[in-house]
Amino acid sequence: MAKLTVEDLQLDGKKVLMRVDFNVPISDDGTKVEDDNRIVAALPTIKYVIEHNGKAILFSHLGRIKKEEDKPAKSLKAVAERLSELLNKPVKFVPVTEGKELEDAINELKDGEVLLVQNTRYEDVKDGKYVKRESGNDPELGKYWASLGDVYVNDAFGTAHRKHASNVGIATNMPGKAAAGFLMEKEIKFLGDAVDNPQRPFVAILGGAKVSDKIGVIDNLLEKADKIIIGGGMAYTFYAAKGIKTGDSLVEKDKVDVAKKILDKAGDKLVLPIDNVVADKFDNDANTKVVEGDIDDGWMALDIGPKSIKEFENVLKDAKTVVWNGPMGVFEKPNFAKGTLEIGKFLGTLTNATTIVGGGDSTAAVKQLGVADKLTHISTGGGASLTYLEGKTLPGIAAISEK
Ligand code: AMP
Repeated sequence: MAKLTVEDLQLDGKKVLMRVDFNVPISDDGTKVEDDNRIVAALPTIKYVIEHNGKAILFSHLGRIKKEEDKPAKSLKAVAERLSELLNKPVKFVPVTEGKELEDAINELKDGEVLLVQNTRYEDVKDGKYVKRESGNDPELGKYWASLGDVYVNDAFGTAHRKHASNVGIATNMPGKAAAGFLMEKEIKFLGDAVDNPQRPFVAILGGAKVSDKIGVIDNLLEKADKIIIGGGMAYTFYAAKGIKTGDSLVEKDKVDVAKKILDKAGDKLVLPIDNVVADKFDNDANTKVVEGDIDDGWMALDIGPKSIKEFENVLKDAKTVVWNGPMGVFEKPNFAKGTLEIGKFLGTLTNATTIVGGGDSTAAVKQLGVADKLTHISTGGGASLTYLEGKTLPGIAAISEK
């Protein structure tokens, strides 16, 4: 990778501005972090900075802020407390995003200490107006934040597909001194290598509800992958394009033509389910049966069937690189989770392959299964990893300095 990393920076005695992804679920009363995975994921870079005598000044967003009343429930205070427990040292929390209180706190910070700035999206609402200074990358804001430190480290892959003041804004105001953290570096390495330089055979598994969300990914991967397995709700728009009956299954009617074009272009690269678990209603307790091909009216496909699982495993067994994004069925309902779980389990057995899970629901599925630690890389960013798989430039990564 040609990007500057945290290991290339001089950190001793420096004010190190760090963009991390602490966008974690918080209890309704704002006092408790309900899932600290993302905080834990940022620890290696934070620890590296403070062990090298840097002053760590952390920035993150949390949720969306569109009006003044959104602010209290989206404070990062509880995150600072959890981070302090995880680091086993005090974390100074500053409840504002600009001004004297923040500047004084930064100036008082000693080497090796940690400070967390309030939610960067507090800047999106000023004096009751929705001005989007953070999420619209207001040039003055990026410049101001950059002026508070000496170097910059971006470890927030989850926001890399966005052009915000706290990632792109700060980085562009610190030319030559904006580096990737360890988490960011890992994401670029695994997703980048998989897409641009894969060990073959390279098989992609795409699932989830909608074709429309993944057309860009399919287009890009058709050029790069050896096979693309399609499961989940999106498979049935392809069924419709092939003239297979879909019954009451999820079909995006306005995308059937696009699906036809993809099928023409893909030839036998695209692998669709052979059979499906169909249900008479969208309910875990629905009546179900397994059918091959045509789905009758009154029935909807909510999971792939046993023959599809076998066929998908057959395509996957010799793969050297696998990228997976999106579930094979309505896996939140236990009676329709089997396809997703079996595929996840099978990926865990592919010890000679690089197996990458691209965030979102497929990540939840592999964690639920307990196979996450058998896979090579679980991406921390759903939207960002999809953008990567689409072959597009991620502004947050582009803004990091070259080595
Ligand atoms: P996505 O966010 O695009 O990855 O889609 C994930 C959602 O797709 C999950 O909530 C699944 O329940 C849903 N999904 C997967 N398969 C189906 C299906 N056959 N019919 C309806 N929804 C589905």
